[in-house]
Amino acid sequence: MYNFSYHRPNNIDSAIAILRKSEDGKIIAGGQTLIATMKLRLAAPSDLVDLGGIEDLKAIRKGTKTLMVGSMATHTQVTTSSLIQKEIPSLSKLASEIGDQMVRNLGTIGGSVANNDPAADYPAAVLGLGATIVTDTREIHADDFFTGMYETCLKDSEIIKHLVFPIPNRSAYVKFKNPASRYAIVGVMVAEFDNGVRVAVTGAGSGAFRIESLETALTKDFSNTSIAGIKIPTDNLIEDMHASAAYRAHLIQVITQRAVQEAK
Ligand SMILES: Cc1cc2nc3c(=O)[nH]c(=O)nc-3n(C[C@H](O)[C@H](O)[C@H](O)COP(=O)(O)OP(=O)(O)OC[C@H]3O[C@@H](n4cnc5c(N)ncnc54)[C@H](O)[C@@H]3O)c2cc1C
Repeated sequence: MYNFSYHRPNNIDSAIAILRKSEDGKIIAGGQTLIATMKLRLAAPSDLVDLGGIEDLKAIRKGTKTLMVGSMATHTQVTTSSLIQKEIPSLSKLASEIGDQMVRNLGTIGGSVANNDPAADYPAAVLGLGATIVTDTREIHADDFFTGMYETCLKDSEIIKHLVFPIPNRSAYVKFKNPASRYAIVGVMVAEFDNGVRVAVTGAGSGAFRIESLETALTKDFSNTSIAGIKIPTDNLIEDMHASAAYRAHLIQVITQRAVQEAK
């Protein structure tokens, strides 16, 4: 690891000021990805701006038909929040299945979404639930946020303040996980709203993506029979030591059906 200066501001304005003044400053949330990257010398920020001292960023609140989750809410907080358990149980279940207890105690929703690992769980929830990502300068809809593998439309030193999730009529997240890391080999979020169904997949491509054919069928008829005959194309699916593209396509079919069955 290279030398860096550490800062722990207690409000967002100070965090922004430090970031703008620094030569190559970086935000740190729980450090679950960033510290490992720095230890490997794949990142060498001049300054680390720890958001852990900004209490506002940890809040979880209910709005009108929405839930607002602070970017510094840990996976444990999302798992155990009675508000999230009541309003969007699929989100709380998703968080409970991330990594292990230590990772869940430190890892944050904002860090996960900013990092956009192609096998991470939250991108499927953010896309599947049609969330809005609120930063210090703008509001970004999930459909525009993720731009590629480990890439988002966030600018340097832009801070995610919170995420706003519309509350669906029913939803479920089901993942087929890597037994070692617990990252998704395939994970699917299905969410039904008054104006239609959204289906988002993680683990199977270069980033989370929606599947229009499944969404159209489920919007007409929210049942397994409506999607049983839909073939998932393998064109843009990844292949690795864990699963071929064809196997991932099969998993998407099966797991979406399980999610439809579990949706509440
Ligand atoms: C052993 C292990 C197992 C894991 N298993 C899973 C799993 O099963 N599923 C899964 O989804 N994830 C998994 N993870 C990832 C983990 O859940 C974290 O969410 C992820 O590593 C990000 O960590 P963090 O929140 O501590 O962010 P950090 O590591 O602190 O930051 C990550 C990146 O996000 C940026 N960032 C952080 N917060 C903000 C913000 N508010 N605004 C703008 N940019 C920001 C940072 O600058 C950095 O670039 C695993 C991690 C480990 C180490």
